[in-house]
Amino acid sequence: MPKNVVILGSTGSIGESALKVARDIPDRMRVIGLGANRSAEKLARQLAEHGVQQGCLADPTLLDPFRDQVPAGVTIHAGEEGLVELATLPEADMVLIAIVGTAGLKPALAAIEAGKDIAVASKEILVMAGEAVMTAARRRGVRVLPVDSEHNAIFQCLEGRDSRDVSRLILTASGGPFRRTPASELAKVTVAQALKHPTWDMGPKITIDSATLFNKGLEMIEARWLFDVEMARVDVVVHPQSIVHSMVEFIDGSVLAQLSVTDMCFPIQYAVTWPERVANTLPPLNFAEMARLEFEEPRWDDFPALRLARKAGAEGGTLPAVMNAANEVAVAGFLENELPFPRIWETVEETMTAHRTVAHPNLDEILAADAWARDFAQEILA
Ligand code: NDP
Repeated sequence: MPKNVVILGSTGSIGESALKVARDIPDRMRVIGLGANRSAEKLARQLAEHGVQQGCLADPTLLDPFRDQVPAGVTIHAGEEGLVELATLPEADMVLIAIVGTAGLKPALAAIEAGKDIAVASKEILVMAGEAVMTAARRRGVRVLPVDSEHNAIFQCLEGRDSRDVSRLILTASGGPFRRTPASELAKVTVAQALKHPTWDMGPKITIDSATLFNKGLEMIEARWLFDVEMARVDVVVHPQSIVHSMVEFIDGSVLAQLSVTDMCFPIQYAVTWPERVANTLPPLNFAEMARLEFEEPRWDDFPALRLARKAGAEGGTLPAVMNAANEVAVAGFLENELPFPRIWETVEETMTAHRTVAHPNLDEILAADAWARDFAQEILA
C-alpha cells in the first residue's frame, strides 16, 4: 500500500525532489495534497501533472489567477488555515513540511495533533519549537522523521539505539563557499559568491545559511531535540565533499557514518519508506571515482554561527527562535545587498544578547519571541 503524503512547500527545492521521489516509487508514495505560497502557476502545474486533488496557496491575493489554472475537480485551500486543512486531511498518513521560514510550524503541530507522522525538512520547526514538537509527537504517538540529509544520516546510524549509548552526534558541514576565505576578506564577499554552494543545489535562504554556517548551527539545535541529546554531545566537522552525511560516535568508541551521492531524494525517500528500504533509480556511490574524503575542524572563531547556536541550544527556551528570526531578517537584508556578510552574525548576536529567554515556552510565547526578534533585528539594521 502506498503511503498518502501531503507536501507543504511543493514548489521549492525540497518539494520538487519529493515529487521526484513520488514518481520514482509510486507503489510506496502517493501524493494527495500540495501547498505553496505564491508560485500559483507552478503549483497548478504540479497538481495537474501529479493528479493531486487538494491544493493550497498560502498567499490569498493570488487565489483568482490560481483558480483559473488548476484542473477541474481540485479542491482549493487558501491561507494559513488552508495549510492546516491540508496537514490534517483524514486520508493523509504523512505530512512533509518543506516550507522555508516559520509558516510550517502551525501546520506541523496540527498534523501531529491529527495523528499524522511528519517528515521535517524545514529547520525552523525544530529550532523554534523542538521541545513542544517532540513532546506533542510523543504524546500523540506519531513519528518525526528527519529529511535534512544530516539528521536523516544520524537517524539511520542510530536506528533504534538509545541516546544514552551516544557519546557524540557528529554533523558534517561542507564548509560553504568561504571555507578557505581569510576572515579579513569576509566583509567583501558578494551575494552571488555566497549563493554558489560547492556541493548542494538548494533554495537561496539555506544557501546563504550554508555560507555563514548558520545552517549547521540550526542543525545542531534540531539534532539536540530530534535525538534527545544535550548540546554538549552535538559536534560539527567540516567535510567538503558532502558524501558522508553525518556520523554517530558511540560510548564504546565506534563511529557509524551514512554515505550517499549528494541528492536530497535519498533522505526524502528514506523518511517516507522507513523502516523499509526500497529500490529506486537514484545513482549509487562510485568509490573508485571518489578521489578522497576530507575532514577538518570548523573555523569556530571566524564563523561565529556555530558558537551562537551552541549557546542558543544549550540555553533553550525562546532563545533558538530568536536566533532563527534574527538570522532570517539579516539574510533577507544581505540578499537585498543591504548589509555586508559578517553583519549577519553581528545582527544575530546583538538580538540574542538583548533577549530575555522564556523557559519551556508554549506556541504563543515562541511566536511572540520570533516577532520580537524580527522587529529588533530590523531596527538595528535600519
Ligand atoms: P525553497 O526556497 O526552494 O522553497 C520554499 C518553499 O516554501 C516553496 O514551495 C514556497 O512556496 C514555500 N513557502 C514559503 N513561504 C510559505 C508560506 N508562508 N506558506 C506556504 N508555503 C510557503 O526552499 P528549500 O526547498 O530549499 O527549503 C525548504 C526548507 O527545507 C527550508 O526550511 C530549508 O532550510 C530546509 N532544507 C532544505 C534543503 C535543500 O536541499 N533545499 C536541505 C535540508 C533542509 P512559493 O514557491 O510559492 O514561494
